[in-house]
Amino acid sequence: MAAIDNLPPLREVIATHGLSAKKALGQNFLLDLNLTAKIARQAGDLSGSDVLEIGPGPGGLTRGLLAEGARRVLSIEKDERCIPALEEIADAYPGRFSYIQGDALQVDPLAHLTPPIRVAANLPYNIGTELLIRWLTPPQWPPFWQSLTLMFQREVAERITAKPGSNHYGRLAILSQWRADARIVLDLPPQAFTPPPKVSSAVVHLTALPAPRFPADLKVLERVTAAAFGQRRKMLRASLRGLAPDIEDILTSVDIKPTERAEQIDLEHFCALARAIAAQT
Ligand code: SAM
Repeated sequence: MAAIDNLPPLREVIATHGLSAKKALGQNFLLDLNLTAKIARQAGDLSGSDVLEIGPGPGGLTRGLLAEGARRVLSIEKDERCIPALEEIADAYPGRFSYIQGDALQVDPLAHLTPPIRVAANLPYNIGTELLIRWLTPPQWPPFWQSLTLMFQREVAERITAKPGSNHYGRLAILSQWRADARIVLDLPPQAFTPPPKVSSAVVHLTALPAPRFPADLKVLERVTAAAFGQRRKMLRASLRGLAPDIEDILTSVDIKPTERAEQIDLEHFCALARAIAAQT
């Protein structure tokens, strides 16, 4: 579906409301409505979902999400200069769009959303990883969201989707893939944004698993992966020494060679190790 919404072009919205990009707010805007519609389509079938968007800015992705048929969109935007542009979108889509002006790290939007809920955002890069970790570690699982479709710096997207043996493989890959299916669905060059950032970007689509992929206690798994990847060049018998006095025996009991390094261990074995360590303590 094309983005036909009778709203002015985004360049005009930016000029009318004086939305010069602020670096401190991570403002790199998407002004091509064909591109924002394409990103919205990566979020799946939106027609039966409420969509939570973080950082709508002048509203390019917001308009994409609405034009692609989202049941409702709720956006959280910190920059009050964007409010008049968001008001115009609310007028164009009565009953389907609302926004909260505030900091996404402080605001709890759940009371305003009805499941199923999908999250879609061209995230401000300075808070993107923090928000992702929060969404992956809620007090209860399954989480409030069905899917996350998020723009990251390409390097962060690779850290989310990395497999064992890759330089990017680490704590973020373990956490993301333990709780979700995660894949890169779109690559974007710096020139896709106004102003262009220094690095390339990518959209990652994550779908929540009904239960974590392998059983493990989140806190223990985090302790193990923090120690293992904190000294990723060391053999596990050295990097994990502080976790249990008989770490070599524990590693062997779950079929991990004590001489291996964190980068070589897959998710299933990390979870088995977390369970074995939890059973000892
Ligand atoms: N979605 C728009 C687009 O694609 O053109 C703008 C994306 S821009 C990368 C990030 C947006 O997040 C900006 O509008 C910025 O003001 C907003 N933002 C920055 N920090 C925020 C925060 N803590 N809470 C909510 N919004 C924030």
